[in-house]
Amino acid sequence: MTLSSDNTVYIDRQALSHNFRLIQQSLGGSTSMMAMVKSDAYGHGMKTAARVFADAGCSLFGVAELGEAVALRESGCKGDILVFLGFDRRYMDYVVSHDLTPVVFSREDLATLSKAAVRGGKVVPFYLKFDCGMSRLGFKPEETGALLALVDTLENLTLRGMITHFPSSDDRGAENSLRVHERFTMVRDEAGEDRELIYSACNSGGTLYFAQAHENMVRCGIALYGYYPDGSTGRPENGLQGLRPVMSFTTRVLQINEIARGTGVSYGHTYTADRDTQLAVLPVGYSDGYLRNLSNRAEVIIRGRRAPIRGRICMNMCMADVTDIEGVSAGDEAVLLGTQGNETIDADEIGSWCDTISYEILCALGNNNERKNV
Ligand SMILES: *Cc1c(COP(=O)(O)O)cnc(C)c1O
Repeated sequence: MTLSSDNTVYIDRQALSHNFRLIQQSLGGSTSMMAMVKSDAYGHGMKTAARVFADAGCSLFGVAELGEAVALRESGCKGDILVFLGFDRRYMDYVVSHDLTPVVFSREDLATLSKAAVRGGKVVPFYLKFDCGMSRLGFKPEETGALLALVDTLENLTLRGMITHFPSSDDRGAENSLRVHERFTMVRDEAGEDRELIYSACNSGGTLYFAQAHENMVRCGIALYGYYPDGSTGRPENGLQGLRPVMSFTTRVLQINEIARGTGVSYGHTYTADRDTQLAVLPVGYSDGYLRNLSNRAEVIIRGRRAPIRGRICMNMCMADVTDIEGVSAGDEAVLLGTQGNETIDADEIGSWCDTISYEILCALGNNNERKNV
């Protein structure tokens, strides 16, 4: 028997669906959208998220590792599943048996993949990954001609398209994005029209802020989960409005304790009460993804009001100052991410308290707590 915790991550499936449709509608008819569902859909649950996106019309899914792709396929996902880091040789045959679509970034992998495809008696579709300025994975655009010549000699493989990735697409109007896109254009020009390939450069940042680079496929992650890549939740000056955050995270107050002015709080006494203080102990800590860097910085919502976190966040607990909130008692709901009454705390705000981005907050909370789909 699994006992459930008071710490619950809620996943709003309607918001997932809404975000998918909203972005899809904003794209021209010739651009399709891949849903990036790696890292358990940024903490939202890969299988649930993929099913909701599929119901909204999505047929392209992206994951990082082969294990994720296999799990997604076995969950009943029917679409194309692109594997961005799928080259563990021990598991190559899964690419073939599960009809996965790898994104290839080395010549050796092309050869290995071809052998696996021949062994499995199938023709395997794949994409080539180009590094046009990220300095991460991929071939150089200058290699395109030689690569295409190589690809044409390999058995049982069919080239589906070309992919690159922007380093600064969250920065609206970054000049660097123009240069990266220009290098990607070299790849397209070299490949020519006859091959009828798919070209894809944009993550959420490119999709929202760099329409001239949409090509015929974009790859959205964070936007599908309701956040703008540059952190301006719901408040872009122009461009697509109305993305809805999908995740919230709540717990219940474990106990209320009163401490006298001058008393230190939690490990290291990094906070000392400057008045007689009511502390609400919450059963949430860094092992639940509530990062220790949020100590003395974060706020939570209790009885519709904001309560600051005092002292260090422990592994499984933290303390919120509820002195100014009337009538808080054990068992009351505390919202760490999301809305209660008229107050909202989103992942951008939490990220701003601990020098990180919404992505990391969503992964940390979503992947370390029980999820409930609503
Ligand atoms: C994660 C990822 C994306 C999605 O990025 P977002 O900024 O979350 O939209 C797109 N492409 C690749 C290759 C990725 O790894």
